[in-house]
Amino acid sequence: MSSGIPRYAAGIDLGSTTIKVVIYDGTRYIAHMTFASWNPAGTASSLLATAAAEFGLASPPTLVATTGYGRRTVKDATLTPTEITCHARGAAYLVPGCRFVIDIGGQDAKGIRLSEDGSVEDFVMNDKCAAGTGRFLSTMGQALGVHVDHLAQHALGQEPHRINAMCTVFAESEVISLINQGIERGPIIAGLHASIARRTASMVASLRPEPPIVFTGGVSQNGDIVQRLSAELGCPVIVPHDAVYAGAIGAALLAWEHQG
Ligand code: ADP
Repeated sequence: MSSGIPRYAAGIDLGSTTIKVVIYDGTRYIAHMTFASWNPAGTASSLLATAAAEFGLASPPTLVATTGYGRRTVKDATLTPTEITCHARGAAYLVPGCRFVIDIGGQDAKGIRLSEDGSVEDFVMNDKCAAGTGRFLSTMGQALGVHVDHLAQHALGQEPHRINAMCTVFAESEVISLINQGIERGPIIAGLHASIARRTASMVASLRPEPPIVFTGGVSQNGDIVQRLSAELGCPVIVPHDAVYAGAIGAALLAWEHQG
């Protein structure tokens, strides 16, 4: 690493739903998030400026790693690592010794197997359809009149009502039909969560997940899905503080290591 130069690195995760910025100085980090927009690079740049000001920097870091769907929209990025690399790195930073990562964001779901030294051994990803992702949950929440942040509290401890459709469009019709049959919202939401948990567990099964399993991405904030996913996998999944920032944290660490 070059000496004598004040060093700060930034990681930006430009996701389908949110943009996350992390600034790291080798010891500590700060994290900020906002909703994605039609102008991901512009939104990321404003968020970076806000985060830099909070960190007490005169100007935003020039050492920047971008990741996520929009990673190539930021023209002056120093490096553009993949989401798999960044989520693995970030999860291993948040939970040292982590051997498996499950990330469920706005538009995709992934499972990543890590070796003992934290490097990526293998991964699986569903980015072909919204089924089992945050977008699926948000759409169902709208149909049920429940904000995505409050879905878990309706479903905790409820016996899930079976939901057959996984396609977002058909599942929405099924949910509307169940509401009109007089089924309570709690069991319907529990059914949706159970189907996401089942689908996720089956997606990652071929990678034989081993504990510690870390759950990241926006959907990890849903405590009922955390419980149901743990039950499906047969071992508790860990949701560390700042789990939603795992990709941006990983990017910031990679940017930091890139210097010198
Ligand atoms: P991306 O990186 O693709 O932009 P995120 O990891 O930020 O996605 O996740 C966004 C998704 O997380 C949203 O689609 C939303 O449905 C979901 N989400 C956010 N908070 C919660 C919550 N409390 N419970 C369930 N889902 C949530």
